[in-house]
Amino acid sequence: MSPIGHLIGGKLASCPQARLQDVYNPATGKVTGQVELAAKTTVEAAIAAAAAAFPAWREMIPAKRARLLGRFMTLLEAHADEICALVTAEHGKVPDDARGELQRGIENVEFATYIPELLKGEHSKNVGPKIDSWSEFQPLGVVAGITPFNFPAMVPLWMYPAAIACGNTFVLKPSERDPSAALYIAQLALEAGIPPGVLNVVNGDKLAVDTLLTDKRVQAVSFVGSTPIAEYIYATASANGKRVQALGGAKNHAVVMPDADLDNAVNALMGAAYGSCGERCMAISVAVAVGDEVGDALVAKLGPALARLKVGSGAEAGSEMGPLISRPHFEKVKGYVDAGVAEGAKLVVDGRGLTVPGHEAGYFLGGTLFDRVTPEMSIYRDEIFGPVLCVVRAHSLEEAMELIDAHEYGNGTCIFTRDGEAARYFTDNIKVGMVGVNVPLPVPVAYHSFGGWKRSLFGDLSAYGPDAVRFYTRRKTVSQRWPTGGVREKAQFAFPA
Ligand code: NAD
Repeated sequence: MSPIGHLIGGKLASCPQARLQDVYNPATGKVTGQVELAAKTTVEAAIAAAAAAFPAWREMIPAKRARLLGRFMTLLEAHADEICALVTAEHGKVPDDARGELQRGIENVEFATYIPELLKGEHSKNVGPKIDSWSEFQPLGVVAGITPFNFPAMVPLWMYPAAIACGNTFVLKPSERDPSAALYIAQLALEAGIPPGVLNVVNGDKLAVDTLLTDKRVQAVSFVGSTPIAEYIYATASANGKRVQALGGAKNHAVVMPDADLDNAVNALMGAAYGSCGERCMAISVAVAVGDEVGDALVAKLGPALARLKVGSGAEAGSEMGPLISRPHFEKVKGYVDAGVAEGAKLVVDGRGLTVPGHEAGYFLGGTLFDRVTPEMSIYRDEIFGPVLCVVRAHSLEEAMELIDAHEYGNGTCIFTRDGEAARYFTDNIKVGMVGVNVPLPVPVAYHSFGGWKRSLFGDLSAYGPDAVRFYTRRKTVSQRWPTGGVREKAQFAFPA
């Protein structure tokens, strides 16, 4: 089987001197293919293809660009099964979850088809004598996107549909751990009629990323991934004069109030903590029980719910939670469970040692539940990115909120309550970017924007939605006068007022 390569200038490309990296099926632990790690020259070829495609694409009527994106959306829907199969095979998430991710991605393409409306600009007549003024939003040029493994279909679709709808051309660098879905989807964009070079895909690692961060032709960088890399991307691309948005990691808390509907809260927590094996930047990894009574009742209900959780391969019907992405990540998550025990947290449900019959070499870890977790423990401080839920106890809503505000991350949070006043106080004051009230995963829909606070986002603008239109365009303000009747004005030395 030939290695997974790149899409450059509308053609699948391979580079004989590229380094190769194995791609695994996490449910079996078997190597299913190899991905090329692009050399600098390959990335430069993709940037050159994007730069060459830019002038004509920028000039294309925005409504026509939007129509091509509409056709792309139709093709994504028609090929959903193939895309989801690739996601499950390389990421491991179960088919329903893959379908949900793709649907969210498709909604971002749908939003991009409305972008001509948001590019209309602002106009003022007679800002001075016979002077009219307007602001318009021009594309930046070549834009790069660097994406994580955990949403191999959706996160790329957060980026390039909006970027190209605004008239930019794009180079995408997907995660090298599950590269096939992004490459397949990009070929559908081509089939939809999006011209060669408008969307390019290079597979690779740090070398490819660093080339994108330093090449002068790249005007802006969108990044989604872990916080240390997001910080590096932000610093490096900014130092190279680029506009940057870099979304990082998370530790999302759910506050459970004494008046909450506990059964609903438990169901919601199960999905939000263990869905996608906890490998979501919006996953709930901490439940803050307000009052010991709530804490005890919550733990008493979560334990049996975890015993019913069906862990298995996405290829088998009925699986609710798949494997972790890789052997090293499995070891890392398991190491956190060991650390939690050593640090004195109460291990209520232990997911270590789980085996899935017929998949003994897969990276399966069972859902894990800790109680009596305290803020200095590593299982509380760090993003584990696995199926591990920590229950922390607080005496009041204020104490729960102080805990959340003190955490370095501020991506998502939610509160379970029946008390409107408490919910309003929470949504008003909590220092987190995306907040749910009885909604465990408050992931904004495509026509809002997605972004955390604190060390979950470096940059000023969030991903997708209206912020994307501002991120992928540059404002230009024009003032215009057409002197009439051959009148000559004298030179004026005062500042025009
Ligand atoms: P990661 O940071 O390891 O990788 C993300 C991308 O950066 C990949 O394309 C990778 O090739 C590249 N990369 C990795 N190391 C690099 C380096 N040293 N220099 C340059 N580039 C490098 O993230 P991941 O493990 O693929 O994804 C999981 C992380 O992403 C989690 O922390 C999760 O919270 C975060 N995430 C955040 C959001 C969000 O919207 N905030 C969404 C999804 C995932």
